[in-house]
Amino acid sequence: MQVIDLRSDTITRPTPSMRKAMADADVGDDVFGEDRTVNRLEEMAAERMGKAAALFVPSGTMANIVSQLTHCGRGDEMILGDQSHIFIYEQGGSAALGGIHPRPLPNHPDGTLAIQDIQAAIRPDNVHFPRTRLLVLENTHNRCAGTPLQVDYMARAGTLARQHGLKVHVDGARIFNAAVALNVPARDLAADADSISFCLSKGLGAPVGSLVCGTRDFIEEARRNRKVLGGGMRQAGIIAAAGIVALTEMVTRLADDHANARRLAMGLSDIPGLSVDTAAVVTNIVYMDITQKGMTGQALSDALAGEGVRMLPTGPKRLRAVAQHHVAGEDIDRALGVIRNIMTR
Ligand SMILES: *Cc1c(COP(=O)(O)O)cnc(C)c1O
Repeated sequence: MQVIDLRSDTITRPTPSMRKAMADADVGDDVFGEDRTVNRLEEMAAERMGKAAALFVPSGTMANIVSQLTHCGRGDEMILGDQSHIFIYEQGGSAALGGIHPRPLPNHPDGTLAIQDIQAAIRPDNVHFPRTRLLVLENTHNRCAGTPLQVDYMARAGTLARQHGLKVHVDGARIFNAAVALNVPARDLAADADSISFCLSKGLGAPVGSLVCGTRDFIEEARRNRKVLGGGMRQAGIIAAAGIVALTEMVTRLADDHANARRLAMGLSDIPGLSVDTAAVVTNIVYMDITQKGMTGQALSDALAGEGVRMLPTGPKRLRAVAQHHVAGEDIDRALGVIRNIMTR
């Protein structure tokens, strides 16, 4: 039985052309700045995001912590969403490693923070208060239905931040999903960001790696912070080569994942005992709430796994499914049949 794995887009394995590029990669010591493949990936990433420079790091988590450490000193405050990946899933690294004070604001269901909430959270100059340094936005927003934040929202938040001397970091782990869904260049979504991170190892299918993009000065300092975290990699061109293929060959196909996620959401909304906000599904992530009495997210996930369909429990009565490039439209239909059987038996 072929397993249909909808737990995450991080399970994607490298494509044949990535494996070939990795085998053929021209490499050097990247800590000496001598890996031409890494340098080329960094230039490409900077260009895609409309920034002067970029830095290759092993993971999205490192991209985010390096960015936070570069923007903020100890005791500085960072405004971010209470549903954000940085706040929930990164071990509180900002506080643990950087002494950065997180100021979580409620995320709206569409992943935004209310502009007036941000405004109200910015601290005045007063000896009692920490200094507000950084605003963090997440695009697409993982826990908020994978929703893409729109260009005009990013601009409004960016304008407010600049008026108050704040920096803006965008956790753009899935920024290309946002760009494809909104049909805008990724750089338009990055225009108001002082720094933006994105992942190669999710829907883009590369085995490892993320990038941080920003000004030349920012990236120079970020490079120091990457090194102290142990993220200085040597012949990293081996993995960067796959990242170059990811950027050149794997971006436009994200539209297929979005179509599959929609197909899944529409099908799920027809199954008794499940509730799905179908209108919210515009990228590759689908959340379903279990309304059936006695059924839990874990129990449904276990039952599905027994039938070769994998989904991720993200709450007592909640599951997440993510479309990715090893899953075709027919697989979605087969998964829907399996779920329907379980929910109606
Ligand atoms: C996956 C993800 C990250 C972290 O990436 P890792 O490579 O798993 O460390 C950060 N932010 C968001 C929104 C993510 O989805």
